[in-house]
Amino acid sequence: MRFASHFFALMKQRLILSSAAISVLICLVAYLALVDLDIYAQRAISSAPAAKQSVSVIKNDDQYARYVGAALQNKRLRSSLQWSFGGKTQTGWDIYVPLISYAIGTDSDPDSADFAVAISKWQRRSGLDGTGVLDQATLESFTKYWQSRRLGRGSLVATDSLLAAPINDFFDATRSPDLLQLEAETYAAYQRMIAAAAKDLQLKINSSGGLSANEKFLKIISAYRSPAYQESLRKKEPNAGRTALATNSPHSTGHALDIYVGGEPVKTEDSNRVLQVQTPAYKWLVKNAQRFGFYPYFYEPWHWEYVPQKVNN
Ligand SMILES: [Zn+2]
Repeated sequence: MRFASHFFALMKQRLILSSAAISVLICLVAYLALVDLDIYAQRAISSAPAAKQSVSVIKNDDQYARYVGAALQNKRLRSSLQWSFGGKTQTGWDIYVPLISYAIGTDSDPDSADFAVAISKWQRRSGLDGTGVLDQATLESFTKYWQSRRLGRGSLVATDSLLAAPINDFFDATRSPDLLQLEAETYAAYQRMIAAAAKDLQLKINSSGGLSANEKFLKIISAYRSPAYQESLRKKEPNAGRTALATNSPHSTGHALDIYVGGEPVKTEDSNRVLQVQTPAYKWLVKNAQRFGFYPYFYEPWHWEYVPQKVNN
């Protein structure tokens, strides 16, 4: 009995010891597990910004892919979009890239995703879907915007105060003396604009600050046209169409100027206009003429209208 009780006491002691050992072991395992979890958690925290970043990169990649797709469509539409203006079918919008780029505030390549992003912002501001694809509806939103900034119909009758500019300001040095007239304020604004352009574009100037005799760029091709003279031009070119020679011409106000920007001075053929819109003179006008009160007629790179109430708008 004594042996038996001793045996049980021993067993009990071992049991206590072993359960204590097990407890210690469990605690140790738990501790190690916690430490490990903590390390893992710390690792997770330290890697959290990277993980977040990669998620946003993926999200941006997703949007970017959308605009890369839009850019591919723009590359095609730039030379192929069919639309109508002035009673004629027009093809593509390549000619209007400088004006479009200025309106949407980008210098990015028109075939780039960045350009498509800027187009999508313009589309949303114009109440269109922000697809980034420069389609027919988007092009129409641009032409409406440009046309809205031109001389209003109301101002097409007034001839205000006309003056005759020096022949030196004209592209054609042999131009008839009775075709050198333009509205006084328009001429003053033109002179201010020329002074700024001459500096930026290194145009040749004469001693009085005007464009020199051997400079062509930005000289006046045509300014004020009396209704009678306009009619004689129409008779000379009966097939010119209404985009070329309007009956009710802005030139009858003395506020409209045709300015030399390159190529054939006033030919509307696409091949000529494509050439004109690539000249530094035209690109300068697109970005700067507005500062002096001049707004473009998008279809004719040479035609600019002085609309003083819209200065600084
Ligand atoms: Zn004109």
